[in-house]
Amino acid sequence: MKARKPLVAGNWKMNGDIVSNEHLFTALRASLERASLPQVEVAVCPPYPYLGQAAAWLGDTGIAWGAQDVSAFGNGAYTGDVSAAMLVDLGCRWSIVGHSERRQLAGETDDQVAAKVSMCVAHGIGVIACLGETLEEREAGTTETVLGRQVDAIAASLVGAAQPLPAERIVLAYEPVWAIGTGRTASPETAQAAHRFVRERLVARGLHDAAAVRIVYGGSVKAGNAASLFAMPDVDGGLIGGASLVADDFLEICRAAAVA
Ligand code: PEP
Repeated sequence: MKARKPLVAGNWKMNGDIVSNEHLFTALRASLERASLPQVEVAVCPPYPYLGQAAAWLGDTGIAWGAQDVSAFGNGAYTGDVSAAMLVDLGCRWSIVGHSERRQLAGETDDQVAAKVSMCVAHGIGVIACLGETLEEREAGTTETVLGRQVDAIAASLVGAAQPLPAERIVLAYEPVWAIGTGRTASPETAQAAHRFVRERLVARGLHDAAAVRIVYGGSVKAGNAASLFAMPDVDGGLIGGASLVADDFLEICRAAAVA
């Protein structure tokens, strides 16, 4: 068994409604309770309006819930934003930050992602910080340059914090952009190489407990490919998009993490 407890987190993206969520929460509760997988940490990240629903349905289970994003600012005149303090108020254990869809569609920069990481750290919210290269960047041979730049911004917020997050609340998600929602998964060897690079970079940037930080893989993880990815020494679970919306598939991915 790995020293780091794997994390499987579902990123529901902008999907669901009250009725369909209720079905999914019910199915997840039932199947994960039945499966009893104490070796894995499980979380789901529904859209903001349904975080209260997640709290109501998952509050008495071992399944955590989190947000898909957080404001880079504290409470105040930031119309449309949701602050870290509000996430704490709702019982969020985690927040995703820097997802490639936010970087691409909302133009989020490394500095903004770093500011969001700092907000999570300041409020004690576990952070799932995403990074990954585009297909063009991989084909141009600049994957490590891009990952290095993204890790440096995230690491600066983690290392410079007055009250740092414990290592078990820090997660980096390597999500190659070309693998997200495309059905084109990174090979286990490609993922491992990127994860090893990210971990070494965290050490180089002064995150001394980087060996205890989880680095999860995201990008078209399915029930059929999860086991081979999670078997890699530096792949500590997954951030799961599409497959997290189907309870049976998500459960199979959690099982794969449990035996990795
Ligand atoms: C994601 O959006 O974080 C993701 C990994 O999506 P998918 O699993 O659908 O590729």
